[in-house]
Amino acid sequence: MNQKLHIQFPNFISLTIKREDLIHPVVSGNKFRKLKYNLLQAKAENKKTLLTFGGAFSNHIAAVAFAAKENGFQSIGIIRGDELKDKIVANPTLQFAQECGMQFEFVSREAYRSKSEPSFLEELKLKFGDFFLIPEGGTNALAIKGCEEILTEEDREFDYICCAVGTGGTISGIINSALPHQKVLGFPALKGDFLQDEIRIFVQNENWELITDYHFGGYGKVNEDLIGFINTFYSDNQIPLDPIYTGKMVFGVIDLIQKNYFPAHSDILLIHTGGLQGIRGMNVKLKSKQLPTIAINV
Ligand SMILES: *Cc1c(COP(=O)(O)O)cnc(C)c1O
Repeated sequence: MNQKLHIQFPNFISLTIKREDLIHPVVSGNKFRKLKYNLLQAKAENKKTLLTFGGAFSNHIAAVAFAAKENGFQSIGIIRGDELKDKIVANPTLQFAQECGMQFEFVSREAYRSKSEPSFLEELKLKFGDFFLIPEGGTNALAIKGCEEILTEEDREFDYICCAVGTGGTISGIINSALPHQKVLGFPALKGDFLQDEIRIFVQNENWELITDYHFGGYGKVNEDLIGFINTFYSDNQIPLDPIYTGKMVFGVIDLIQKNYFPAHSDILLIHTGGLQGIRGMNVKLKSKQLPTIAINV
């Protein structure tokens, strides 16, 4: 569903937001798109178990746990950080995933880094038996196929399409389905310049660009400006944004409008990729540091 924002911007610029966050309260937005064809493939291969990887607040972990339950799979989550073992109750994401029946394997950050090595996967096979592997963040060719369905007929008229970037899977699908007159802008939620190459693996079109100035210090990092922005945006528009991805992207787009980045009369489409389950975990973190929290009930 596309929702036009009733904010007056300079230069007759208009903003519309695609509410992929409304797809499902937990398996929202791009995680739903990314899992769709992977679940079909797992069923076709007669797999009984889904296995994937993620951090403690991962939208992907929550989405896989829920989708597994809904579709009759067992699920296993390999979680980064063995210190989290005793902290499941303090972590809304892990608690939710556990309630969905996900079984956890907590590994050290060091072991986690070797997660795509054949020897590590062999070990997992010995331990858990046969499984359908979904990579960290859910990005693979089937996920990108799912994300090619985000843009539809009604989006032909937009000049710019903006979306948050983690692993680059979602934006790859969007780039593949964007029209030649459209420009796709990606806002990485993390530091580093490896993403450009990751995306190039999956796309052929050239009408895209990464805007790397709005990661707010790196993945999962926030500051009071960002939290204040998310809260104001919510009270002005009644649209909830998450602090890890969509908050940073929308902050970036509005900042760029104010800096005259976009030509006059640009029609901009923002992709709301969801991720709202992450708000509770972020608020636990903010509270423990006595910082202002996100005033959105999820
Ligand atoms: C995972 C996620 C992203 C990033 O998607 P990638 O395909 O990894 O780039 C963006 N927004 C939200 C809300 C997410 O949960």
